[in-house]
Amino acid sequence: MPDSVHQRLVLPGPVEVRPEILQAQTEWMIGHRTAAFEELFARLQRKLRQAFLTDSRVYVSGSSGSGLWEGALRNSVRPDRKVLHLTGGAFSERWAQVSRANGLHADVIAVHWGRAHDAQMVREALQRERFDAVCVVHNETSTGVTNPLRDIAGVLREHEETLLLVDTVSGLAGAELRVDDWGIDVALTSSQKALALPPGIAFGSVSDRVLERAAEIRNRGYYFDFLELEKSLLEDNTPTTPPVALMFASDRQLDDILAEGLAARWARHLEMRDRVHDWLLAHDFGLYAQAGHRSPTVTAVDNTRGIDVNAMADFMAGRGFAMDKGYGKIRGQTFRIAHMGDMQLDELEEILASLMAFLEMLA
Ligand SMILES: *Cc1c(COP(=O)(O)O)cnc(C)c1O
Repeated sequence: MPDSVHQRLVLPGPVEVRPEILQAQTEWMIGHRTAAFEELFARLQRKLRQAFLTDSRVYVSGSSGSGLWEGALRNSVRPDRKVLHLTGGAFSERWAQVSRANGLHADVIAVHWGRAHDAQMVREALQRERFDAVCVVHNETSTGVTNPLRDIAGVLREHEETLLLVDTVSGLAGAELRVDDWGIDVALTSSQKALALPPGIAFGSVSDRVLERAAEIRNRGYYFDFLELEKSLLEDNTPTTPPVALMFASDRQLDDILAEGLAARWARHLEMRDRVHDWLLAHDFGLYAQAGHRSPTVTAVDNTRGIDVNAMADFMAGRGFAMDKGYGKIRGQTFRIAHMGDMQLDELEEILASLMAFLEMLA
């Protein structure tokens, strides 16, 4: 391992990556038009389908998650139709921006930051108007809200024409998500959040319905054209040069994720969340997210004690932890504690003990 200074990442992305996963990136490089690469691709594909709980394909993208935001939109929304975004935090708002940046007609159902969406809002919107797609952020990392995705997906089933596009960047492998059972057309995620991989690779499950829609859209762009990705996938390959080192790491990490088991992994995250909540409430902090919709992978702390988040982060850095100070317009008013990826309860206890030391220093 490198001998540079190691700060343990308690950020909601990028998260701490275990040494054996970092090590897996140092395999000798292989050419990507080789049998060795096709084997790697096929192996990874099998494991990704298990992690997404889908029998359909999962594309591997040499980009961060935002690339697949654009890809999902461009392959699902016809230029003369509309897309509906459910917004209530920094990431869901930015995804709607991406629609506009691509010249799409985007409507939004906006809730206050910290609130969740519900199925009824979506039902009413779909009764009023037709949309090619609905975009939902499963786990809004800026506010610590998990949306009731299964219920929202249930509403979409009544609307044949409307595809369900889901950002589960800080959800998948930490919070329950079932692509096929729930009927999700695109589920996209980045590597550096709940999957606990280094940044730079993204994954997206894509339904047959999306590929049928894509065939009706003339200008799908190039880099994220799903029909091109599909052509290559059928040959266990990618259209452009893939992030091979990150694929080695992903292959290894998915072994460990599947060995732990998705259900066990979801349960571990809920346990860490509950511990963080108990600790915060016992120390006179609040919880920013709406009750009943609090994320298993990240807690946005309502800074009711008015602590100086910069001083907190400096203190924690001295103890070897990189802490978040809140995101976007609620920075400082909130800060976030990530409990995602491969973090274990005993590591979380160390983090809370250091936070305790910070609070004692203030007293
Ligand atoms: C981090 C994050 C993104 C952006 O992902 P990148 O990999 O940085 O492009 C999108 N959505 C959510 C919910 C996120 O947490």
